[in-house]
Amino acid sequence: METKSGSCHCNSITFEVDLANGLENLRRCNCSLCKKKNAIMACVPVEHFRILTGKNSLSVYKWNTRVAEHFFCSICGIYTHHRRRLNPMEYGFNVACIDGIDPNELTNVTIFDGTTLSLVASK
Ligand SMILES: [Zn+2]
Repeated sequence: METKSGSCHCNSITFEVDLANGLENLRRCNCSLCKKKNAIMACVPVEHFRILTGKNSLSVYKWNTRVAEHFFCSICGIYTHHRRRLNPMEYGFNVACIDGIDPNELTNVTIFDGTTLSLVASK
């Protein structure tokens, strides 16, 4: 298990994520929220994601079925993580928030069809 640290832009929110196999199953989602967020995400079990600082700065956005919880920093606005609607025992997190990651260098990012809930394409 490898632990990586991450933060929002203003560093109010810092977190740690435990990765069993590094950064894998990277995806973008095409739902109406994610296409505007345009983040590359990965998922971990909720117990593998810990907010270290800034809990009070977290805001949550809910929409549609209001099951998923989309967390973002109330100061700088950056999306950090979300509790998934499909699997509430997992958090998705913003790969670009991980220290030292350049999202433009990531390959093997899959497009997740959030409107039909299926994987549609790889690139
Ligand atoms: Zn922030």
